[in-house]
Amino acid sequence: MGTPTTTPAVTPQTPHFPEQVTGMYILAEALKRLEIPTVYGLVGIPVTEAAYAMQKVGIKFVGFRFEQQAGMAAATHGYLTKTPGVLLTVSSLGFMNGLTATANATVNCYPMIQISGASDPTMVDMKMGTYEELDQLNTARPLVKAAFRCSHAKDIPSAVARAYRAAVSGRPGGVYIDMTTPALAEIMNREDAEKLFYQPVDLYSPVSPNADAVQRAAETLLSAKRPAILLGKGAAYAQVDDKIKKLIETYNIPYLPMSMAKGLMPDNGPLSALSCRSTIMKEADVVMVIGARLNWMLSFGKGKWNPAIKFIQLDVEPQEIDVNVPIAAPVVGDMGQSLDAILAAMDGKKMQADPAWVTSLQAETKAKNVKFSERLTAAAPLSPMNHWSALSAIKPIIEANPDVILVNEGANTLDDTRDAIDMSLPRHRVDCATWAIMGMGMGSAIGAAVSTGKQVVAVEGDSAFGFSGMDFATICRFKLPVTVVVLNNGGIYNNIGVNPSTDPRVESDPAPTTLDLQARYDKMGEVFGVANYYVTTPDELSKALTEAIASKKPAIIDVQLAADAGKESGHIGYLNPTPLIDYTV
Ligand code: ADP
Ligand code: MG
Repeated sequence: MGTPTTTPAVTPQTPHFPEQVTGMYILAEALKRLEIPTVYGLVGIPVTEAAYAMQKVGIKFVGFRFEQQAGMAAATHGYLTKTPGVLLTVSSLGFMNGLTATANATVNCYPMIQISGASDPTMVDMKMGTYEELDQLNTARPLVKAAFRCSHAKDIPSAVARAYRAAVSGRPGGVYIDMTTPALAEIMNREDAEKLFYQPVDLYSPVSPNADAVQRAAETLLSAKRPAILLGKGAAYAQVDDKIKKLIETYNIPYLPMSMAKGLMPDNGPLSALSCRSTIMKEADVVMVIGARLNWMLSFGKGKWNPAIKFIQLDVEPQEIDVNVPIAAPVVGDMGQSLDAILAAMDGKKMQADPAWVTSLQAETKAKNVKFSERLTAAAPLSPMNHWSALSAIKPIIEANPDVILVNEGANTLDDTRDAIDMSLPRHRVDCATWAIMGMGMGSAIGAAVSTGKQVVAVEGDSAFGFSGMDFATICRFKLPVTVVVLNNGGIYNNIGVNPSTDPRVESDPAPTTLDLQARYDKMGEVFGVANYYVTTPDELSKALTEAIASKKPAIIDVQLAADAGKESGHIGYLNPTPLIDYTV
């Protein structure tokens, strides 16, 4: 008998199951690695778990009530941060609802990426009646800068990186990613997934302007007798505020901002020609257009403009040059580089401008401002209020809080608010922009508040508010510092339209422009448990708005206007296809 044998210790062999991840995780992780902080969207099949995965990796997911508003938020995020806002939607109708906002972003040159869940394309292509079958990729294509489809999880990181680059490069715009159910559902070993991620280089590559073009532009501007600078939202977007200030102040050039460029240079600064728009159009001999298009908002650069005018145009998009009117000195390239080059070419040289030009514009501004403040005070009834009386209360409060971002839409509400409220900081005004669309208010307010952390006041017509009003719920759920001010005149334009029919089937219907004068939009604050105010005088409005802004919490104010406050189509009645028929009494 020897010593007892001991059985050697056996290390239990646990079978090795590699950790696995889904396409949804890969999507979340791909966005995270590109430093996308926030995704705006509305979940459902097949993207619900993708949104959970985003939260899990630390991305803020802002869930909306309507995809279009989530898209407006993403677009505004893109405009204010110069990085793509991201929208997540379900397939079919969710995709379509979001696409409106993405198309609007493309038109306005805001960088954004719409990611939509999509049915298996092989079944869509064969019309095999799959769930929510729609050829989303081809539907999106004509409305976006670029469109990609992920059919496999391995495609996701490169699709997201390429979408990012496409959204911010050249002229910014909307990009679409068709995120198919098979790609989202695919399961991979984590270590294989890890190999898919890469750090893309130069997601934004600025394009340098041509030296001859810079020289020509500098000489044209220096030779002007009556120069002006027209600032568009492309100039605001580019975040080149110091260079624009330097050009304007060093060479003493009057400037005229487009609506969303208000505040890029102060609206009430000594060289602001905000009140002299028609004089600039008629009399300026050289106008440098910086990040604006000579489109319908600028009478296409002709007609009302001096026929002998020379335009200098700075734009990143070569196809923008000579649209509607020939450009004497185009400078195509990144705004920052173009301005640096022009400033260098002008350095030490003197403008030939007639000194009387600036002084006459300043005198005109002074006279117009007197008239304008009369309209806001003397001519504005205290109760029931019109737009001007409401604005007499809103104007001083917004101007005393310059860092509040102003979101603005409506017809008369848009026109009158834009005219009344002076902005003094860049990128603090977001409105319905190039397409003049209604239905961006709540989404843009949310995008502005979330992407900047700033307070927002949304001044909305009652009709405009109706398009996006349900997403006031999102403002409340996320406790955003947003005050919604609804100027309620009970209608599209106003409440005094009259149904002209004598047909008994329709004669008692409301007129097409008639909405709800007595509607108490403030009660939406009760529904969602936030501060709410109903005001009927400028004093009450002033008190409510001051309190709401000071609270830094969600609030809604119904501002009761008179039924006849406001006119059809606001300032752009001339765009109606026929002369306005007077259906009012
Ligand atoms: P607005 O409505 O204020 O007149 P638009 O949207 O019509 O402005 O025009 C903005 C212009 O700015 C577009 O033509 C766009 O190509 C240009 N743009 C946008 N971003 C940049 C940039 N970073 N550098 C140069 N141009 C830009
Ligand atoms: Mg109205």
